[in-house]
Amino acid sequence: MNLNQDKILEYMKLAFEQAEEAYNVGEVPVGCVFVDKTTGEVVSGGRNETNETLNGTRHAELVAYDKMFPALKEATESGLITLENYMLFVTVEPCIMCASALGYLKIDSVYYGCQNERFGGCGSVESLHESLTYNLIMSWEICQPLLCELRPTTNISA
Ligand SMILES: [Zn+2]
Repeated sequence: MNLNQDKILEYMKLAFEQAEEAYNVGEVPVGCVFVDKTTGEVVSGGRNETNETLNGTRHAELVAYDKMFPALKEATESGLITLENYMLFVTVEPCIMCASALGYLKIDSVYYGCQNERFGGCGSVESLHESLTYNLIMSWEICQPLLCELRPTTNISA
């Protein structure tokens, strides 16, 4: 699927809605959606849930993956569940943990809104997308107006 800027923005807006929801409940405002790369359908969305669950693995990407997992499992015939047919739109560059997980799950492409200079696994701290070979599209210019609407969080346990 070839994405133009309008389509990227459309998916990113949905990711931002998730991020806003996270912000509103005191989480670090990160949100994402997974999109079927063949049909363009949004199949799952998630936001950070680390503070409310006290579980440091509950990042938006893994929360969204867990939501779509039952359907993926049911649809797979080989027993090997992958994200080869999916794109991820996430407000912030995936952290090292998520960047690894996405790579091992063979995600097709990751679009992200801004860099994560503290924990980023896709270019800022590590470049896991290179060794785990998935497409990475930094969409700052497209997302900038959306990102600027989000207020900075005071959450220091991020
Ligand atoms: Zn993460």
